[in-house]
Amino acid sequence: MSEDKIEDCIESGDCAEVLENLFAYMDGQLSEDPQHRVDVHINKCQYCRDAVDVEAHLREILRSACVQQAPASLRLRIKQEIRFRAKNPR
Ligand SMILES: [Zn+2]
Repeated sequence: MSEDKIEDCIESGDCAEVLENLFAYMDGQLSEDPQHRVDVHINKCQYCRDAVDVEAHLREILRSACVQQAPASLRLRIKQEIRFRAKNPR
């Protein structure tokens, strides 16, 4: 996917919805409809796939450190970082 397409995707608002629901999506807490929308979007959007990868990677680290849950402050920081990247595509 080209950079242009990623910007189009972000401007369409789809990415915002995905990022908004990212944690719930990964926890399987979304109802069927939004979960499906996120699935479809992630399949076509490299940027949001990356965001999911970042979160998945973080969980991996936390699991290996025997930490049950990321501190709220850390989760917030990551969420803000993802939002920042969404608003400032390279
Ligand atoms: Zn996206």
